[in-house]
Amino acid sequence: MISVHRRLPDCRSNICRKLVENFNGTLPEISVIIIFYNEAWTPLLRSVHSVIDRTPAHLLKQIILVDDNSTFEFLKAPLDKYFSSFPVVEIIHSPKRLGLIKARLVGFEASVAPVVVFLDSHIECFPGWAEPMLVRISGDQKTVVFPQIPSIRKDTFELKCPERPRSYCGFNWKFLMMEWEVIPDRVLALRHDESDSIRSPTMPGGLFAIHREFFQNLGTYDPELAVWGGENMELSFKTWMCGGSLEMDPCSMVGHVYRSPNPHKGLFSQGILSRNAQRVAEVWMDDYKNYHYERNNYNYVDVGNITDRLQLRASLQCKSFEWFLKNITPELSYPHNMTYAGVIQSKANSKCIIISFDKNKPVKRPVLYDCKTPTFFHVWYMGASAQINQDDVFLCVDNGTVVLHQGKCQKSQPQWQYREERWLYHTPTGQCLTIAAESQLVVSPCTNSGQQLWYFQRRRSDLEFPSYL
Ligand code: UDP
Ligand code: MN
Repeated sequence: MISVHRRLPDCRSNICRKLVENFNGTLPEISVIIIFYNEAWTPLLRSVHSVIDRTPAHLLKQIILVDDNSTFEFLKAPLDKYFSSFPVVEIIHSPKRLGLIKARLVGFEASVAPVVVFLDSHIECFPGWAEPMLVRISGDQKTVVFPQIPSIRKDTFELKCPERPRSYCGFNWKFLMMEWEVIPDRVLALRHDESDSIRSPTMPGGLFAIHREFFQNLGTYDPELAVWGGENMELSFKTWMCGGSLEMDPCSMVGHVYRSPNPHKGLFSQGILSRNAQRVAEVWMDDYKNYHYERNNYNYVDVGNITDRLQLRASLQCKSFEWFLKNITPELSYPHNMTYAGVIQSKANSKCIIISFDKNKPVKRPVLYDCKTPTFFHVWYMGASAQINQDDVFLCVDNGTVVLHQGKCQKSQPQWQYREERWLYHTPTGQCLTIAAESQLVVSPCTNSGQQLWYFQRRRSDLEFPSYL
């Protein structure tokens, strides 16, 4: 068993130490908020002890543990007893399951320090983890900071110093979820030195520090976001759009157990993730929200009442989503200028082309699949470049067979035309997309065969698909 007080290497670079040593001011105190639902005993204890052991006592005002109505008995009286001799630790047992967003808000209500730090319940703080983030926030109260988050192996709990950051956080249009992206040189160039923080469009969401007044001004979290997901996008968008900045701190390090499969996968099928994403889209993304809806074949769900959130945005006089894209994440691509955006359906059997998702077959292929209720699996794009793609995967032809490429086919040469005959005509070979034996997708000489007739859904013309370019 690994000690709940195990040592971690000191990963700080000299320049990071200097940043803290040379700071001549008083760092603000922090309230650390750790929420948990059915967390295992030692990882939880190790999380809490790593905060107590590695935060200067004069900075650590309180650690608030919010038990989100766990069912494990050891997280009730035994946990209270364990921490009873640690006055800095306060435990709140929620009488009902709140979900992570509301649970964090309960912790926030109980917090008193000027800066609040949210952490997960399976983390470990490295030496000197807190001070760099506090240096940033004391410089500007509207700075939201998150640390480097190296992975704690879920089987061995091995944890190493993180490498120099190469990625920051963007998002995808499909789920409006955080995605790691290579940090553009433009952003690196804004830094004075290697200890300077990196402006990031979005954040992972589980671990971050924020000034309580700024969090309050931003309307904390949308409390109607359910269980898990979306809250990090909401906070990221509004931080930038409403006058703050979101930064990744290369000097602050906190390990985290990334679990796979994602324990919250079930929320997809319950529609909770779509609802959270659509709530955020409706409030913050203006007409750019249509790119998200289109990518999901318009699976509109009831997002509930958003009047308060829109009022909040208006009263804070936040900037537009277009401003955010243009100024904070100009590298992020989005499928503007598309003629077709939706299903590619066979006239012969009414099936649609999707990307195979058989886990046991690592090579993904385009395949035909049921199309009665098309979802994000079924949506393809084609615009002026005459290439057909789903996100960064392209439909290409290799020796007469239709295959998938990561990135454009044939150095961006035009590939496809959707013709009046309802052919998907492959320009380089002069042949047509065909369903061959065993539902194989190939190209073959164009005829009048039903196996070569397709319906390619056009982009909706009743909705706006804005572009700032
Ligand atoms: N959590 C919670 N209630 C929930 C779901 C999650 O209190 O309904 C806690 C969970 O114990 C963890 C934090 O919220 O401390 C973040 O969840 P998780 O670690 O599962 O998310 P991930 O890190 O995988 O994104
Ligand atoms: Mn986690």
